Amino acid sequence: MDNKGYVMGLFSFILILPVFLMIMIAVNMVAGGADIQQTRLNSHEVFSVADDLETNIPLIGREVLRDKSEEVIRTGNPLSDSRKEIKDEFQDRMNKWCLKYASGGIRAECKILTVDNSPDPFKVEVKSSINVEKGTLKHQVNLSQNISLINESYPIPDPLPFVKCKGYGGATIRGNRIYYASSLVNYLKSRGINNSKAYENATSSLYIKKCPYNPYTLHGNGGSLVNLKNCIDNGFYHESSDGACFLCRLEGKSVCPHYGMETFIVPAPSVTLPSSNNSSAHAVSALDHVIFDDTDPGTYFGHIMVYFNNDTHYFYLYLDDSHREKYGLPPHD
Ligand SMILES: [Zn+2]
Ligand SMILES: [Zn+2]
Repeated sequence: MDNKGYVMGLFSFILILPVFLMIMIAVNMVAGGADIQQTRLNSHEVFSVADDLETNIPLIGREVLRDKSEEVIRTGNPLSDSRKEIKDEFQDRMNKWCLKYASGGIRAECKILTVDNSPDPFKVEVKSSINVEKGTLKHQVNLSQNISLINESYPIPDPLPFVKCKGYGGATIRGNRIYYASSLVNYLKSRGINNSKAYENATSSLYIKKCPYNPYTLHGNGGSLVNLKNCIDNGFYHESSDGACFLCRLEGKSVCPHYGMETFIVPAPSVTLPSSNNSSAHAVSALDHVIFDDTDPGTYFGHIMVYFNNDTHYFYLYLDDSHREKYGLPPHD
C-alpha cells in the first residue's frame, strides 16, 4: 500500500506540475507587468522634468540678464566679466530650481556650460547639460538655446549709459527713456569734445527693442522722416557691427569685437529752429556707440537734421553721412 501510495503521489505530482508552473509564470508576468508599468511611469516623469527644464532655462536666463542689467544701472559699476558673472548667477538659480523636483524622488541637475554671444545681437546663447534620474532611469541631454533680449512683456534695460554717465551727474530713468540732464554734456566736455552742450537734457531709449524698419533704409522712405520719428519715439535699437553687444554693454563698453547694436541719442526738442550754418549745427553723431566711444579720439561729428516739428518745438538729431546712408536718410547739403 505504502509503495503504491507513493507511486500514486508521484504520479499526481507530475500531473499537477504544469499547473504549478503556469501559476508561477502567471505570477511572474503580473510582477513583470508591474515593473514595466513602474518603469513607464518613471520614464514619463524623467522626460517631463527634462522638458520642464528645457522650457524654463531661457526664462530663468532672461531674469538673470535683466537683474544683472538693473544691478549695473543701480550702481553705475560695470561687470568685470559679464559672461562669467551671468553664468555663475544662472547656475545658482538653476540649482535652486532643480530642488523642486526632489520631492518626487527625482534627481535633476542642470549645469550651465557657457553664456555667450549669439549671431543675432538681440539674443544671448546659453549652453547647458541636463541630467535627470529616477530609480534606475537616467536621461542626459546637452542643450544650446537662445535667450531673447526683446520680449515686450519682459523688457531688458540698456545698462551702458548709466556706466558712462556715472561721475558726471548720472543718468536717470523717466518712463521708457533715459534722461541725461547735464551728465552727457559733462561727460563729452571731459573728453574735450566740441559743442558738447548740444546734448543738454538729451534722452535715449531705456529698453532694448528691435527696430521693425527693415531694411534700415526705410527710415527715410520716400524722402519722408516719419519712420525715423517713429523709430526714435519708440526707442528702437538696430543691428550694428560698430555698436557694442549686450554682454559688453554690461561691462561698460560702447564698442566691442562682437556684432552688436546701436540706438539714437537725441537732444531735447528746441523752441527755435537750430541754425544749420554755424558751429552749433555740428555735434558728435547721435549713435550711442559714437557718443560713448571714449577709446577712440577720432569720434566723428554729424550735421543737424530736423525730423519733426509741431506748433511749439523742433525735433532733431546730429547725424554723420555714413549713418544717414545706412538709414536711407538725405545727406547733409
Ligand atoms: Zn529704427
Ligand atoms: Zn561684445
